[in-house]
Amino acid sequence: MKPLDPLSLTARRVTVIAPHPDDESLGCGGLIAALSADHRAVQVVFVTDGAGSHPNSAAWPASRLARQRRREAQAALACLGATALPPVFLDLPDAGMPALDDPAGETVVGDLAAALTAFGSELVLSPWRRDPHCDHRDAWALTEAALSRARLAPERLEYAVWLDELGQEGDQPRAGEAEAVAFDISGVLALKRRAVEAHVSQTTDLISDDPTGFRLTADTIDRLVQSVERYWRPLP
Ligand SMILES: [Zn+2]
Repeated sequence: MKPLDPLSLTARRVTVIAPHPDDESLGCGGLIAALSADHRAVQVVFVTDGAGSHPNSAAWPASRLARQRRREAQAALACLGATALPPVFLDLPDAGMPALDDPAGETVVGDLAAALTAFGSELVLSPWRRDPHCDHRDAWALTEAALSRARLAPERLEYAVWLDELGQEGDQPRAGEAEAVAFDISGVLALKRRAVEAHVSQTTDLISDDPTGFRLTADTIDRLVQSVERYWRPLP
């Protein structure tokens, strides 16, 4: 399959749903950079605060880490040239999003529905529905609920961050569920890599006092930062 030119997408207003700060760059950095360079409006919604990556660090308690991850998210968007619109930070707890039928979940669905409506999203990039991480699946379900609440039906593409590395058999798309779409992002590949590296707390020894802390490996980064960026387009 020949990868498509990102500018073959016609949407002028694009929303990216990132479960954690770093997913926007790992999953969608190429499209964000290419569409931003074409003066499309790209708004990124960060769902969780990312403060769960180093739960045992004394030097980086959750509140400090959340602030750091927000700064990293903003730095990454600057690398990608997506600074025209302020990102949305929903600040939900990392690995502890509320159930959507809880009052807290209902509120978040309403908040995201309002943001999508106000922005006028024509294309929504969300996590793959069965990406093997609880926050990625929850962020997909949150996106579905918010679009339904807002009665919006924008074009959709889903991106997988962990599927190829951690996915079980049933996590892959089923027959008739989604079709693969690939974009040639070679023109902005260096920007995507720089954006991933802007997430210093996830890619370096910045936080050195939690041996259980999360670290993006070079293999994961190399797997996702390639000249082709892959998505799944849901089939009707
Ligand atoms: Zn993530």
